[in-house]
Amino acid sequence: MKNEHAQAMPCPCGTGKAYEACCKPFHQGELPDSALKLMRSRYSAYALGLPAYIIFTTHPQNPQFCLDTTLWAQKISEFCTHTEFEKLEILDFQEKDNFATVTFVAHLTQNKKDVSFTERSSFEKINGKWLYKSGKISEGRSKT
Ligand SMILES: [Zn+2]
Repeated sequence: MKNEHAQAMPCPCGTGKAYEACCKPFHQGELPDSALKLMRSRYSAYALGLPAYIIFTTHPQNPQFCLDTTLWAQKISEFCTHTEFEKLEILDFQEKDNFATVTFVAHLTQNKKDVSFTERSSFEKINGKWLYKSGKISEGRSKT
């Protein structure tokens, strides 16, 4: 398990705070009050291998949404196992009412190969809960 050092480690999302004081409460059921916090907590959930949280925070209209959550969780776990989550870099964040976008660079490696990508993610708040709706991947760091 990747989360065996969960007690005092810095949060994988890169805020510089301890995991306990950062994304852990969200992973335990507290709802993030902004899409940016949701974004960060999803990144750290990937880093820690917590597929249930990824599923819990995915919008039903997301192309990756899958009713077979067992299979879906397996796919996420596999991705987590084969990926090193080096760093999350937030480039832009905009939130208005129930909609938000976050542009970020996910610094990842797989088999020592750099597989980092830049994505502009869209989020929607439904019944007070932020959900990851969709993402557009762009290669470079220039703003689209
Ligand atoms: Zn965090």
